Amino acid sequence: MSDVITLLPDHIANQIAAGEVIQRPASAVKELLENAVDAGATEIQLFLTDAGKRLIQVIDNGKGMSETDARMCFERHATSKIKQIDDLFHIRTMGFRGEALASIAAVARVELKTKRAEDNLGVYIEIENSQVLKQEACHCAVGTNISMKNLFFNVPARRNFLKSNNSELRHVIDEFIRVSLANPKILFTCTHNGVTSFHLEPGSHKQRFLQLLGNQYNAKLIPVKEQTDYLDIYGFVGKPDSARKTKSEQYFFVNDRYIKSPYLSHAVSAAFENLIPKDSHPIYALYFELDSSHIDINVHPTKQEIKFDDERLIYSFTRAAVKHALAQYSVAPPMDFSLNATVQQSEAINQPITEITREAIKESHLYQSFTQKNVAHKLDTVRTGSLTDWKDFFNPSTPNLSVHQGKTSQIAQQLYTRSDGQSLDPDAIFLQVQKTYIVAPFKTGYIIVHQQHAHERILYEKYAALAVQQKSGTQAQLFPIKLEFGAVDAALMNDLIPDLEGIGYKIESFGGNSFILHGVPADVPTGNEKDNVELLLEQYKHFSTDLNFAPREKLLRCLARQQAVKAGQKLSQKEMRQLVSDLFACNTPFSSPSGLPAFVEFDEEKLFQLFGN
Ligand code: ADP
Ligand code: MG
Repeated sequence: MSDVITLLPDHIANQIAAGEVIQRPASAVKELLENAVDAGATEIQLFLTDAGKRLIQVIDNGKGMSETDARMCFERHATSKIKQIDDLFHIRTMGFRGEALASIAAVARVELKTKRAEDNLGVYIEIENSQVLKQEACHCAVGTNISMKNLFFNVPARRNFLKSNNSELRHVIDEFIRVSLANPKILFTCTHNGVTSFHLEPGSHKQRFLQLLGNQYNAKLIPVKEQTDYLDIYGFVGKPDSARKTKSEQYFFVNDRYIKSPYLSHAVSAAFENLIPKDSHPIYALYFELDSSHIDINVHPTKQEIKFDDERLIYSFTRAAVKHALAQYSVAPPMDFSLNATVQQSEAINQPITEITREAIKESHLYQSFTQKNVAHKLDTVRTGSLTDWKDFFNPSTPNLSVHQGKTSQIAQQLYTRSDGQSLDPDAIFLQVQKTYIVAPFKTGYIIVHQQHAHERILYEKYAALAVQQKSGTQAQLFPIKLEFGAVDAALMNDLIPDLEGIGYKIESFGGNSFILHGVPADVPTGNEKDNVELLLEQYKHFSTDLNFAPREKLLRCLARQQAVKAGQKLSQKEMRQLVSDLFACNTPFSSPSGLPAFVEFDEEKLFQLFGN
């Protein structure tokens, strides 16, 4: 037999490697902006066409590259930032893996113009499929001007994975904001399809945060500042009354690098405990400085996750620093602040990490189940929650309790044909279990309804029907309400106005980041409009990353989800009865709009099976 192993040609190896670093326009934007930061630029301009799918261009006034370096930078593992392995543990630059430009050149057409201050002429290079097409001397400004066109033109499978322009643009803007928050001394601009949506003058950390949040937050930010030998922390948290229904304005930076950390978020939330409602989230931008030997940045190709050598110390420090800041501004009762043994033995630090991890997993599961399409109506494949307890209660080896959509069971038939709920026994007592499941008896058995899934279904169908009737579905506001958003949300809001109107909102752009709300869909309770619209946007953002629904459909689903009774809410007999009968008035009562089961049934047959024979 002949040998079968061959070495992949470079351009294929680069394309494969690119998969890790460049997943979408936003990842390329991040890499290019970070290169400009590393080059010492004081001005960085980002230009995009079609959310970066057609063009991403970054122009910086940094140190530029020599002719040789300009050619070299597209080679894999070509970096000026580390020379030996030990350097990895003292990194202060954003890049160091030398992969970004090689990856970009493998999946897009790249044009680079760059010049150093000491050179008379710059160099122009065109590269595609990792092949240099052109290289020549050129006149250009000091710095680097790099464009990448038609991302993934040669990798159709990846191109097809890209989401709508709206959705990709949102990711791009998220990255832009993170890099610009990390570097407030640098002037940043962002121009999309010829419209400049961000022009961020250099300033302090606070000024930069306010440029993005909106100036109305000026009086709402509390400074955080603590220094120790091990770690400095600096930044801002919002006063409790600025807490949001969303987690969108929460940022951590470690040595000027944006990082994601559910662990640290938990620490900040812990500091706000009892100051804000459970479903609200503080806003913050917190900057950590510590010796880079205490962190490992190289745990993930995109470097957004890092490892601290002493996570528990960072946790307790963060919590204590935020608490201290809140206390100083008389927002919270004073506490004795010190990072001594007592703090280290505090409840926070001794709290088992499993609790936190569990939180994180729970969250991501919720998120997943929300975004997964057509999750089968089967209990064994989706989150069963406490229903497993029910199962165990009856019979630990109960096989596969499922709601059959094809075969309509006795109860479903009774319910489904009598949409007014008449088949419910008027004297039957409903039972609410764990403030989540409604046990509703029927003549031939009983069903267990998940109150939240069921209510989402009910509202979804109701709002969808109202949306069809359009205008008649709007309730006019007596007093128009002014809404202020941060720059990102305002951009999104502008995009969504037609679709929001389509589902019954009446919203008018008021210039800048302001909007006027004149009406909300009929049947949406009034009084909390501002929170509700904020939450709607936030849910919309999450939603849009995973599913290819039309914006209006997404909004409907988000609205239903937002207004639905939540698991954990106590319901009266009357409410339970109403909910169950409304559910069976639906066209598709079996599941929530996102596909989670709305009820399971135990009819005569099933009960018989369960008890053997
Ligand atoms: P890394 O940033 O990890 O070193 P990249 O592939 O992003 O790898 O870049 C390779 C090299 O190209 C960098 O190390 C740097 O020397 C050079 N380079 C990239 N972008 C710029 C820029 N905008 N200005 C100056 N030099 C740059
Ligand atoms: Mg780089």
